[in-house]
Amino acid sequence: MTIEPKHNISDELLMSYAAGALSQAFDIVVASHVSLSPDSRVRLDGFESIGGAVLDEMDAADLAEDSLDRALARIEGVEPEPREIRLRSDAVLPEPVQKLVGGDIDAIEWRGIGMGVKQAVLHDDDHGTARLLYIPAGGEMPRHTHRGLEMTLVLQGAYSDEDGRYGRGDIEVAGQETHHSPTAEAGEACICLIATDARLKFDGLLPRIAQPFIGI
Ligand code: ZN
Repeated sequence: MTIEPKHNISDELLMSYAAGALSQAFDIVVASHVSLSPDSRVRLDGFESIGGAVLDEMDAADLAEDSLDRALARIEGVEPEPREIRLRSDAVLPEPVQKLVGGDIDAIEWRGIGMGVKQAVLHDDDHGTARLLYIPAGGEMPRHTHRGLEMTLVLQGAYSDEDGRYGRGDIEVAGQETHHSPTAEAGEACICLIATDARLKFDGLLPRIAQPFIGI
């Protein structure tokens, strides 16, 4: 059973991804979304072939060594595979996440952050953090807005917020203008892959107090 995502990534962000302009944390989310969305895959293929044609026309000397490395890394995938993992196409986790976790959901090392919510940080550097978040069925994330960019990709279950309903493969891109309290649907826990490049801004006092310990 394959349900195609309804919320796909914008052309603008896909082009940035194709050009290698996104930081690693966001790369992981976009690569995962593309692996679950035929629509985004087709658009990305288009941008990558345009990018390839541009690279062909440029003199190799014009390319900074670093950008060439990045372009090559882009062709090879998100990250070099550190160890041999048997990737499963029927897994809950998309392949880019399976590579980082070392398997499917059973291999995730969750850390409880209260109210039954759990997280597992997959990548963290100066430019952003990518984490898996587990929200129990019916659970609600404290209402917040964002100091930077937040990309959320649903891997299991579904959540709703002020902007709509998001199910497997759907991506929500939120910025400073988005004020929301994502709530997991009843019946099944919601597992999301989230990338952020700045701390969230919570409305409530309790989440603000807990924030330094959770790192969100
Ligand atoms: Zn948010």
